Amino acid sequence: MGPVEGRGGETPGRLTMQYHLDGYRPGDPAQAGPPAAGAAGPADALPAELAGKLPGKLAGKLPGKLDVLIIGCGPAGLTLAAQLAAFPGIATAIVDQKPGPLRLGQADGIACRTMEMFEAFGFSDRVLRESYWVNETSFWKPGPGPDTIIRGGRVQDTEDGLSEFPHVILNQARVHDFFLDVMRNAPARLEPHYASSFRGLTIDTTGRSDHPVTVRLERVDGPRRGEVETVRVRYVVGCDGARSGVRTALGRSLTGESANQAWGVMDVLAITDFPDIRLKAAIHSADAGSLLIIPREGGYLVRMYIELDKLGADERIASRQVTVDRLIAAAARILRPYALEVKEVAWWSVYEIGQRLCDRFDDVPAADAALRTPRVFIAGDACHTHSPKAGQGMNVSMQDGFNLGWKLAAVLGGRSPPQILHTYSAERHGVAAELIEFDRAFAAMFGAAPKRPGDDGAGGIDPAAFQRYFVKQGRFTAGTATRYAPSPITAASAHQHLARGFVVGMRFHSAPVIRLADARPLELGHVLKADGRWRLFLFAGADPADPASALHTACAALAGSGPVGRFTPPGADLDSVIDVRAVLQQPHRTLALGAMPALLRPRKGRFGLIDYEKVFCPDPGRGDIFEHRGLNRDRGCVVVVRPDQHVAHVLPLDAHADLLGFFAGCMA
Ligand SMILES: Cc1cc2nc3c(=O)[nH]c(=O)nc-3n(C[C@H](O)[C@H](O)[C@H](O)COP(=O)(O)OP(=O)(O)OC[C@H]3O[C@@H](n4cnc5c(N)ncnc54)[C@H](O)[C@@H]3O)c2cc1C
Repeated sequence: MGPVEGRGGETPGRLTMQYHLDGYRPGDPAQAGPPAAGAAGPADALPAELAGKLPGKLAGKLPGKLDVLIIGCGPAGLTLAAQLAAFPGIATAIVDQKPGPLRLGQADGIACRTMEMFEAFGFSDRVLRESYWVNETSFWKPGPGPDTIIRGGRVQDTEDGLSEFPHVILNQARVHDFFLDVMRNAPARLEPHYASSFRGLTIDTTGRSDHPVTVRLERVDGPRRGEVETVRVRYVVGCDGARSGVRTALGRSLTGESANQAWGVMDVLAITDFPDIRLKAAIHSADAGSLLIIPREGGYLVRMYIELDKLGADERIASRQVTVDRLIAAAARILRPYALEVKEVAWWSVYEIGQRLCDRFDDVPAADAALRTPRVFIAGDACHTHSPKAGQGMNVSMQDGFNLGWKLAAVLGGRSPPQILHTYSAERHGVAAELIEFDRAFAAMFGAAPKRPGDDGAGGIDPAAFQRYFVKQGRFTAGTATRYAPSPITAASAHQHLARGFVVGMRFHSAPVIRLADARPLELGHVLKADGRWRLFLFAGADPADPASALHTACAALAGSGPVGRFTPPGADLDSVIDVRAVLQQPHRTLALGAMPALLRPRKGRFGLIDYEKVFCPDPGRGDIFEHRGLNRDRGCVVVVRPDQHVAHVLPLDAHADLLGFFAGCMA
């Protein structure tokens, strides 16, 4: 047996960074410079001196016709835009009513699963470098004396082997920056149109229009303030947050918990003798309330979530006029007997949140689903809201965007029929409903008063029970528990036993391998790039070099009248739609790439150069993938992976007709 899988240990080049020592400074920490003066306060957009002076395309007019219009530059909208920017043939625009990019605040928790997605977009290394890594979580409860708290437990944050990436914390604004860089550098060279506010839409459902959605937008800043633009669009995606105008325009609403919970959150530079200030810590005091400490990137900054009062029906937290001084005082009370001296407040906010869900995430009523396909979608907070305690808002919103992006690209590129767009609402509504259930239970536990030592009565929560619940739900909060139900893009496989560790419907769980051609150790999951391609992993049986082997036969079937041959457009690279990779069982030094099927050495590009990076072998030093993912060594198998990294099917290597049948059901 190989070594136990780890959680992405520190490697050279992934050095930790210290910053914010002399005050909080937004932006790229690698850029030296003085701290921003007077950053305190709930400001979250571009500095005023830049607003209205945005250059070129940022301030330019939208084209009259678009393939996709995304409303909102939050995590959901930017993930979607970054995905669509990979396709220069698709006319995409993204707008936001703000004058510029987010600079401070909002969410900060980045789940392991989200890091895997960042790897697909090419910036996981930047996040790893800048972020705080959540390795352990501690739990504090009331102590024996008045006004005391004691540590009740301390646990590893994420179980071993769950992901090759850690759970990290980084300012949402930096995540936005990285997506903006991806968009800027992608083939479509996409930049947001800021200061442009959604005002309404109409949908032509007759099926006669190529661009059936008409959207009205109003300029809300700069010299063109008040100007209204009308754009005709094939698909609109409302990523416009909890008060979504797109959702309202569809006649949909968020329903759920009506008694809203108010939250105070502040990012501070502070001096304290609380011992776990650099650990994620959940603190239940006896009488002063609950506090969640989230250490932040840079080594000094700390976020504190303070639960405030329940609000009345329809009451807004703004009406309570909560000040940052009140938040600081509340945090200091909860932390007693430890001292808290806040030196600078980098950002703070009070906001109310309910557990709310929209019944569908697109414009098609259930009764019409067989008659027409969706034209308008909503994603992120626009269709689900929940408390920030489990750190899910940003993560789930980004996964919404990732789920939808490749589907829109496939339909607009003519590779898939528009019917696959129905799966967006079906799949993501299921995830959001689960999240809201989880959040309700988690929030109730976090908010309840703790049981006092020796109190066996019914009231209050046992802090040990809270800790147990936290550990049990680890996979859920890591984002790795999502499992999509069978649909045209996810099979109801009868062959799961051939690859027990690649569960159909769940994300492809990476494992270490060695690339055959150049002996490079890497993570197999990192070949899954956010480029809209499907991937087939052929896990080979006994003798992969034998021309009569199942591997050779499978490759010949794929390339001929199989899915690769059938769905690759004439003249395109052989891996441009379905990218085939093989994983062999033998040590890499015992095999020759030249003995592998031609499909695994495709000739590509202008010069017909050979792609040498399709074949992998186990890396026994880091754990044998066949063992770790429960792969059948005698028979091998095919694992089909969707463009959003979810496993779509597991089949025997010789199930050629079934594999073709699966692709014929979701490709045009
Ligand atoms: C003030 C605030 C504080 C938060 N703090 C935390 C936190 O501490 N921890 C946590 O986990 N989560 C927090 N959240 C929630 C978290 O940020 C969200 O779950 C996450 O950002 C959801 O992403 P999204 O893309 O769906 O929406 P958002 O991030 O809300 O983005 C929506 C975007 O749409 C734009 N928009 C809205 N209306 C229009 C319009 N009519 N026209 C054009 N553009 C429009 C907005 O300007 C915004 O940029 C906070 C959210 C807010 C708003």
